[in-house]
Amino acid sequence: MTDQRIGDRIRVPITRSTLVPEVRDAIESLIMDGVIPPGTRVGMEALARELGTSPTPIREALASLESAGLVVKESLKGYSTTPLMTRAEVEDMFRFRLLIEPWAAETAARADPEQTAPLTTEVASALAAAGDGEANYRDIARHDARFHDMITELAGSDHVRQALARTHCHLHLFRLSYGPVMAAPTFAEHRRIAESIAEGRPDLAKAAMVDHLTTARDRILKSMSSDPRT
Ligand SMILES: [Zn+2]
Repeated sequence: MTDQRIGDRIRVPITRSTLVPEVRDAIESLIMDGVIPPGTRVGMEALARELGTSPTPIREALASLESAGLVVKESLKGYSTTPLMTRAEVEDMFRFRLLIEPWAAETAARADPEQTAPLTTEVASALAAAGDGEANYRDIARHDARFHDMITELAGSDHVRQALARTHCHLHLFRLSYGPVMAAPTFAEHRRIAESIAEGRPDLAKAAMVDHLTTARDRILKSMSSDPRT
């Protein structure tokens, strides 16, 4: 990681008054884009200099990214980026998601129609934002996080919602497959889930979620086979 490479990434200098969330977003992007590669030391002073901020928000942002599993702090060494997920970790992540999310989709389909309407809107607006061109993977990652969170919220279990949020799965999975964005199948699968939920069809919603998670898992595992980093 060089200062120059970081400088290239940050087009708008972050002012001293910038809040921690913006610093966190900036560092998260550097890690997600591989500008700071996996398993690399994160220089706090270089980041502070490049982002034009004091070390305090950098330290707070790194602590927040540590809880998301993107960096790890080692005594005396400071922060480093975590390695990418292994195939076994990806399989385990989806094993967990397949336990909770089909249930969440099935249960969400029993919610009132006015409660499920925002889910349909979320898919439509994400699709519209992506347009015809190459979709920005970070926007899709954010849409994916919101979409799956909304379904667990509709299902009405705080424990399930928090358990999914704690995996930070969208960050780790999109960090893996940042190359080709497989946007079209993701949108189609999300739309099928959202429609089944909006139409109040629990069995279809559950089946659509199982289908989405298994095909997403297989897409990612396939992309890992051709990725020399994994
Ligand atoms: Zn999804």
